Amino acid sequence: MRLLLLAPPGAGKGTQGQRLAATYRVRHIAAGDLLRAQAQAGGALGDEIAAHQARGDLVPDQVVLDVLTPVVVEAAAQGGYILDGFPRNLPQATAAAELAVRLGVTLNAAVYLHAPEEVLTRRLLDRASQDGRADDKADVIRHRLEVFAETTGPLVPYYTQRGILITVDADQPPEAVTADIQAGLSRLSLAG
Ligand code: ADP
Repeated sequence: MRLLLLAPPGAGKGTQGQRLAATYRVRHIAAGDLLRAQAQAGGALGDEIAAHQARGDLVPDQVVLDVLTPVVVEAAAQGGYILDGFPRNLPQATAAAELAVRLGVTLNAAVYLHAPEEVLTRRLLDRASQDGRADDKADVIRHRLEVFAETTGPLVPYYTQRGILITVDADQPPEAVTADIQAGLSRLSLAG
């Protein structure tokens, strides 16, 4: 199984990524987590990543590709992956498609999780009180939602055109969201 999760902050990419990875026994590749780990490791690259993340801006594409490509290559060889938070703009989507061609694999589906902005903001502010992520502050949350709308949103028509988009209402309990994703996957495989 090879899936990607396309979702604004707070929609539950991480939760669904973990659940789907366990169900399909493939690796959950969370771009934000891998970049945060690299940021924690420090050095010039780590500091650059940390600065972008703290502002809620996207980390530069080449940095993202350098961090993620080896992980995707390894997971592809081991049966698949759930990509959570990558790709996040059109150049990254093109790079991901080129990598898939090079690896001789295709994506089963791109899952778009959507929820009203006030639901997303409330979830992120709740999370902020628990895990204190540097980017879970009201002004940075607002900026991350804008970045999603402007930069990541265009991937919705991109994957629709490729015939592999599944749109799911993320304003439901996690189990219901997973069930809707699975229903979408069976509809796609029936259609395909
Ligand atoms: P969320 O979607 O809730 O903001 P993530 O952990 O997915 O959380 O992402 C956090 C931050 O990590 C983003 O705001 C961005 O700075 C960086 N990031 C994650 N994935 C990417 C990506 N594919 N390209 C560029 N930056 C990324």
